[in-house]
Formats: sequence, C-alpha cells, structure tokens
Amino acid sequence: MDEKIKLTETEWRVRLTPEQYRILREKGTERAFTGKYESFFEPGLYRCAACGQPLFESATKYHSGSGWPSFYAPIEPDAVEEHGDHSAFMVRTEITCSRCGSHLGHVFEDGPQPTGLRYCINSAALTFESTPERQKSDS
Ligand code: FE
Repeated sequence: MDEKIKLTETEWRVRLTPEQYRILREKGTERAFTGKYESFFEPGLYRCAACGQPLFESATKYHSGSGWPSFYAPIEPDAVEEHGDHSAFMVRTEITCSRCGSHLGHVFEDGPQPTGLRYCINSAALTFESTPERQKSDS
C-alpha cells in the first residue's frame, strides 16, 4: 500500500466531481442500477476514484442483481478497511479506501464462493483501467 493520503475537505471538493464528493467524502450512495459499472464486465482494474489506489479486479466482479457493482474480494486484504455502520436504521459494515479513507460502499455476507462476501461498491467511487491499457503503460 502507498503512503496514506490526507487532504482537507476543501481540497477533495476541488479534485472530485460533485457526485464523487457526495459519495466518497459524505458517505453517499448512488441510486441502484444507475452507476456506470453496474453492468460492466471488461477485464481490468478498479481504482479508488479519489486517490487511485488499486481496490478490485474484474476477475472478482460478478453480477449480484443488487443494483451496484459487486465483487467477492478486494485486490489485497489491506486495500480496504471495514467500519461498523449503524446509519439508516440498519447494521452494516462500511468499506473505505485504506489509503485515503474515502467511502466506497458496504460489505455483506451473501456473496458467492470462494469468500461468501459481497463488496457492494458505488460506481462513482471507482475508476476503471482496462487490461490492455495497463500492459501498454507498463512497457
Ligand atoms: Fe482512496
């Protein structure tokens, strides 16, 4: 993991779109079935839209039907952090980026094998990098 990123909320507002800011920094949620990665299954890497840290790979993405992009595991166990969330009259586990602390979504225990977990992530919290682009930039 790269060094942690700490910015003021004013600095985040400048870097992010209003929708990204609302979700990543104010723990918002995009409406179900509206995010750009909900029905998107190209091979590649999903990074944190706030700081660029790699978070998820397309190999662990699956169609949950929940209305949000769903993954059964993060790219590395320490790429994300879990926090108890008792908001909205529910008991859930919030997921944040371990590098910049931005809100990504929640994790639930109704996912597929091998983990049985469903990382339910807002599209607006992710930026996608396709595999061919990654190979080009690596060479
Ligand atoms: Fe981040």
